[in-house]
Amino acid sequence: MRKKLAAGNWKMNGLKSNLGEVTALTEAHPSPACDVLLCPPATLIGAMAEAAGGKLAVGGQDCHMNESGAHTGDISAQMIADAGGSYVIVGHSERRADHHESDLIVRAKAEAAIGAGLIAVICVGETEAQRDGEQTLDVIGEQLAGSVPDGATAANCVIAYEPVWAIGTGRTPTLEQIAEVHDFMRNTLVARFADEGNGMRLLYGGSVKPSNAEEIFATSNVDGALVGGASLKASDFGAIIAALDAS
Ligand code: PEP
Repeated sequence: MRKKLAAGNWKMNGLKSNLGEVTALTEAHPSPACDVLLCPPATLIGAMAEAAGGKLAVGGQDCHMNESGAHTGDISAQMIADAGGSYVIVGHSERRADHHESDLIVRAKAEAAIGAGLIAVICVGETEAQRDGEQTLDVIGEQLAGSVPDGATAANCVIAYEPVWAIGTGRTPTLEQIAEVHDFMRNTLVARFADEGNGMRLLYGGSVKPSNAEEIFATSNVDGALVGGASLKASDFGAIIAALDAS
């Protein structure tokens, strides 16, 4: 049985003054059946963990592959754990694009996360040109092979399928397209990790909102969502959590 997960990525949004959204969320959804995760900017991890009071999980949006050292501006997985985080997103398409992160780098970051006791949320997804060129499954297969470390288990890794063209655009794949990729990811992970691959949670991400959450959560092998814009407001993210609980 895979426990469902509603994960929010605040990206480069949020100040201390926005932490009221966390309190509002935990008050409105004090004991969801699914796991709930919020990944704020690094500056807010500690304060958000405190505001959440253990009622939801907090995570980072990225980590360095090393534990410490001369890497100005970076933070390590240990630092996220030390601040009260329990998850970290790695390989988000914005990091892959803006910071030229390869599968090899994403894999090293996932290994660092697991080594620090964090759960790695490893993101994969095709560009619009790749989808138009009917390369989607090849791209996803390559990213899974390259980015997911050999030590991945159902307990320490979550995979998020995020089509690049669906992030922040209001566009989503058809439900058939989501099912095709999620079924493919499940088969690929089972072929590599056997039972552990069957237990890994697969999130869909890309323009998930209250109005489309229910149908996405009813789709084959979708165990939750990674949500950007709609995770910033407690009312929207709360509605997504409720849809996941009802699925
Ligand atoms: C994301 O950033 O991971 C994301 C899915 O964003 P949005 O929900 O805004 O499309």
